[in-house]
Amino acid sequence: MKIFAIGRNYSDHAKELNSEVPKEPIFFMKPETAVIKNNKPFYIPDFSNEIHYETEIIVKICRNGKSIPEEFAGRYYDEIGIGIDFTARDIQRECIKKGLPWEIAKGFDGSAVLGKLVDKNKYADVQNIGFSLDINGTTVQKGNTCDMIFKIDRLISHISRFISLKMGDILFTGTPVGVGPVKIGDHLQAKIEDELLLDFDVK
Ligand code: ZN
Repeated sequence: MKIFAIGRNYSDHAKELNSEVPKEPIFFMKPETAVIKNNKPFYIPDFSNEIHYETEIIVKICRNGKSIPEEFAGRYYDEIGIGIDFTARDIQRECIKKGLPWEIAKGFDGSAVLGKLVDKNKYADVQNIGFSLDINGTTVQKGNTCDMIFKIDRLISHISRFISLKMGDILFTGTPVGVGPVKIGDHLQAKIEDELLLDFDVK
């Protein structure tokens, strides 16, 4: 499987990073070795002093496809959930400054935390669901998929023009405003609406 992630898909988050709001979706990839599942702990890597959480709605691709038209994109994912796109912000800043690729800031081991996935049909409209992250019992990030700059169908259509999608691939759909650092001992709990789908510790 492979993991796609979208950069700057909520305008408030683009502003907090002093980035321009894009005209086309921006995506990058993480390797399979980045995945953490089943509420296992995240270990802060030794090469960064600034690991940020980014709370994102994730979707799971359920059939293979290439150059998928936007109007059929809904058929290509069946499950939805919440995940954390962990980012070594200090390293990412260096990469951007030097014009280098982002892989070490975004693709390191443990950087793609996947919560429990649920049937997308559970939600009347996937482009109108609320989600949030609590750290140590305090809500630090809150979003709604209605605020995405590019909707999920557009993301699937766009990515599949360049890279074939395969069953089992995961797409992180971008983070809203409110990203910030994690430290050893933090307890992270992420919800869609009021349902706790991800619950793990930082070690
Ligand atoms: Zn992200």
